[in-house]
Amino acid sequence: MARGKRRRSAAKKEYRELDYELLKISAPRRETKRGIEYEVRGTSGQSDDPAKFWICRNCSLEIEPGTNHMVAWDVHRGIETRRHFHNHCWKMFQGRLD
Ligand SMILES: [Zn+2]
Repeated sequence: MARGKRRRSAAKKEYRELDYELLKISAPRRETKRGIEYEVRGTSGQSDDPAKFWICRNCSLEIEPGTNHMVAWDVHRGIETRRHFHNHCWKMFQGRLD
């Protein structure tokens, strides 16, 4: 019984640490496009570096800082494959991340 309690409190702590990250990035979800499983997160686009911007993988236009947008990566190939998308561009995107 005591051991079970300890395990639960450890899990709670881990959850709080993750929560801290989620202040900037919303909870991830999984989406499958053409048989490829992606992990997708919405981000507020807030950055410590005000000069930072992203290039949308779908339309190749800039995503300006502070723009709410999506980050997606191939679940199996890992977070290194992540790319940024305008919200509507992610919905239309049907290709592969390279
Ligand atoms: Zn776009």
